[in-house]
Amino acid sequence: MPPSQPIRATRGVRDILPPERAVWQVAEAAAAAIAERFGYQEIETPIIEPAELVERGVGESTDVVTKELYKFQDPGKRWLVLRPEGTAGAVRAYFEGHLNQGPQPARLYLMGPMFRHDRPQAGRYRQLYQFDVEAIGDDSPAYDAEVIEIAWNWFKDLGLNGVNLQLNSIGDAKCRPAYRQALLDYYRPLKDKLDADCQRRLEINPLRLLDCKTDAKYAAEAPKVTDYLCDECRAAFAEVRRLLDAAGIEYRLNPRLVRGLDYYTRTAFEFWHEAIGGAQNALGGGGRYDGLAAELGWPATPAVGFAAGLDRTVAMMHEEGIEIVAKPPADVLVVPDGPDLAVAAAEVGRISRQVRPAMVDFSDRSLKAKMRAADRFGCRWVAIFNADEARRKVVQLREMASGEQREVAWQDLPEALAS
Ligand code: AMP
Repeated sequence: MPPSQPIRATRGVRDILPPERAVWQVAEAAAAAIAERFGYQEIETPIIEPAELVERGVGESTDVVTKELYKFQDPGKRWLVLRPEGTAGAVRAYFEGHLNQGPQPARLYLMGPMFRHDRPQAGRYRQLYQFDVEAIGDDSPAYDAEVIEIAWNWFKDLGLNGVNLQLNSIGDAKCRPAYRQALLDYYRPLKDKLDADCQRRLEINPLRLLDCKTDAKYAAEAPKVTDYLCDECRAAFAEVRRLLDAAGIEYRLNPRLVRGLDYYTRTAFEFWHEAIGGAQNALGGGGRYDGLAAELGWPATPAVGFAAGLDRTVAMMHEEGIEIVAKPPADVLVVPDGPDLAVAAAEVGRISRQVRPAMVDFSDRSLKAKMRAADRFGCRWVAIFNADEARRKVVQLREMASGEQREVAWQDLPEALAS
């Protein structure tokens, strides 16, 4: 029995259909182009990963793991997750694929869906798409600046003007404990005034108190991480800024910027868009994650990268009125006029396709209806023929915009369509 209601998509996900998909294609192509211009190579990693990879890699105290993970047992009783982000998988792949034995750093990028069981709302999806760039295997702050420059250029290439870069350093294993203590000393007397979520953060991840939404007023007065940096972290941060200055990339120092994920060290950054504002609504973010590889049981290896959200980036393209003219599905529509012309029409389609995208109208609608369809698709040409013309192997080639029409032999179609 068919279901009583038509089957619809599950909550928090969506289809990206034409013509919207064309906008995504522009964003994706620009992402790949800018990454490759910097020598980054594309990788794919699995969407399913062992639960432990993400739990260890992303950090068991983070919202992504505690609340938002799609975690399930497969038929073999293994605990798996749908990846909520790309970095842990990229690092795993770097070692398993022996990229650690090649020239360092490995410059990698990946694009694809991530999954978070977030409360669906505007700009928040359960299947979201990210563009990830990772430079794995070198601790030079020059790579921090390089990945920032890639993201910066991507937004510029897309024509986005409202993006600003927020920059911070969150120290490393050496200097962060003193800062953590300073935060605890500051927040403990305020504990009763914090909401339940922030009280929890106080115990398990005090750095995250700085991006507590409801208690932002306390964060404004909190100790600044940049006052606690050790000499090495301070020097690295200065070098990142020097490189960004030289590249003409503007940034705002934001000592309250922390990353939700535990493995980050030193440089942390986010790209905000003026139309969406605050940290939770960033277009993307990243930083150095020198602690991640060892956390996953691989040799300690420095790395830096970022993840930008395609969903929000595309939304901001619309917000800024950036026009992407969706191309018609094909330049040529082959229109047989009459029954039993499918074989001939398919052949005309094949000949046209030597030079142009072409599709065939195989329907048995009227010629008028077929011409209306060609108009709606926005096809540049229509190649019309009836049974007699099929026998003579010619078509009437009509240019839709001018209305000009002329008879063209099949064999001359590639030349006629090439102009
Ligand atoms: P994160 O990995 O949390 O640092 O997120 C990086 C970027 O991915 C964000 O700045 C967003 O653009 C995007 N993103 C994260 N979560 C979602 C979501 N639930 N829906 C849409 N985009 C998201």
